[in-house]
Amino acid sequence: MTVTTPKGYTAFSADTIKGYISGIDELAERVGGDQDQMETVEIGDGNLNLVFIVKGPVGSMIIKQALPYVRLVGESWPLPLKRSYFEYHALTRQARTSTSGARVPQVYRFDEAKALIAMEYLADHIILRKGLIAGIEYPKIARDLGLFMAETLFRTSDLHMETARKKQDVALFSDNVELCDITENLVFTDPYHDAEMNSWTSPQLDRLALALRQDRDLKVAVQVMKQKFTSSSQALVHGDLHSGSVMVTQDDTQVIDPEFAFYGPMGFDTGALFANYLLAYFSQDGHAGKPGERDDYQEWLLTTIIDTWQVFEDRFRALWRSERDGILYPRALFEDQDDAPGAEQALTHTLRALFCDTLGFAGAKMIRRLVGLAHVEDMGSIEDPDLRARCEANALSMGRELLVGRDLFSSMNGVCEVARRIRMEGTRL
Ligand code: ADP
Ligand code: MG
Repeated sequence: MTVTTPKGYTAFSADTIKGYISGIDELAERVGGDQDQMETVEIGDGNLNLVFIVKGPVGSMIIKQALPYVRLVGESWPLPLKRSYFEYHALTRQARTSTSGARVPQVYRFDEAKALIAMEYLADHIILRKGLIAGIEYPKIARDLGLFMAETLFRTSDLHMETARKKQDVALFSDNVELCDITENLVFTDPYHDAEMNSWTSPQLDRLALALRQDRDLKVAVQVMKQKFTSSSQALVHGDLHSGSVMVTQDDTQVIDPEFAFYGPMGFDTGALFANYLLAYFSQDGHAGKPGERDDYQEWLLTTIIDTWQVFEDRFRALWRSERDGILYPRALFEDQDDAPGAEQALTHTLRALFCDTLGFAGAKMIRRLVGLAHVEDMGSIEDPDLRARCEANALSMGRELLVGRDLFSSMNGVCEVARRIRMEGTRL
């Protein structure tokens, strides 16, 4: 397939982006000065898009522009520019629904024809994944992301939205076909068969990677989760909420890059985040200068998982009680008939289902990062392949436990116990 560039679109360079900005008053004013005073650099370390930092005498901004193909792979893998439209619409919805704090970069301008978003430059923040690899603790992150997930997910769900608005928004995002298709294949299918682009630390992980293809319970479990992904439009999910989509300082947390957004299962976001904390957890043994050096940090990661879920659950409960005014579980059936306990019972049931989904999706997300197409730097930056393989094998075991055993866990504490046990015992290669 060849890439056809839509009319009106050109991919900018660090040089040509200056002319674009100076041609649009609201952007030019924000940056200040003329083109000669503008400093621009392309920093896209991501897999898909161009990202420019633009600085001028007055201010700065990020310009994120979609390319008509997957940057990681090249022009042989076309990908539509409209993903930037979904990213823009997701950013505006997240900004509106996450009221406990401004958790997404402010959008300055969306240009649909150029497939670009001008947004706030988070100059002091670093990508969370880099912080986790460096062993840095973030005291506010559990609270910030727990609240963010509860608010964005609850408020875009049928628990809060009115039917016409919900359907209209589902229709808008349901056109994000190609990015959903990527997830459907890369997360839920490719790791479990001989897909061309799979890779793993070889030969160390060969036995475990190939065993996935014969693991019937696992294959069934991952398809059960895939069905939830394809058929459940519970809420507007970020769709790619890993530690590379979070930017942090010691006192702020920002969520970026929601181009995979669509109406899907809530547990897909919560699961993605916990999967990445767990990948970070198992990778620490490869980053410890001497054995035990990262023990405290590993415990911090587990505590963060527990705290995040607690904050999430508390906020979800509060919203259930105060903003449950959508399609589902109407008050007419419960509170209005003097049956508040009925609503509480339904809440407990809803959270339990969400917890199990979270674990199932977390397991699937872990496994694909170990034997599928795109791996994580947490593991990739461990230079010694034998050491890396041992970390990855533990993470693989954890992924399987979560995916197959998602209904058997009673709490996040229990999940963390299993993680500790797997790490202590070590997975046989
Ligand atoms: P992609 O979709 O191609 O993965 P991302 O949105 O993840 O692109 O952005 C790629 C990188 O650009 C991020 O890892 C981050 O380093 C940087 N970046 C993106 N948005 C911002 C922002 N608003 N402020 C500062 N840096 C950003
Ligand atoms: Mg991206």
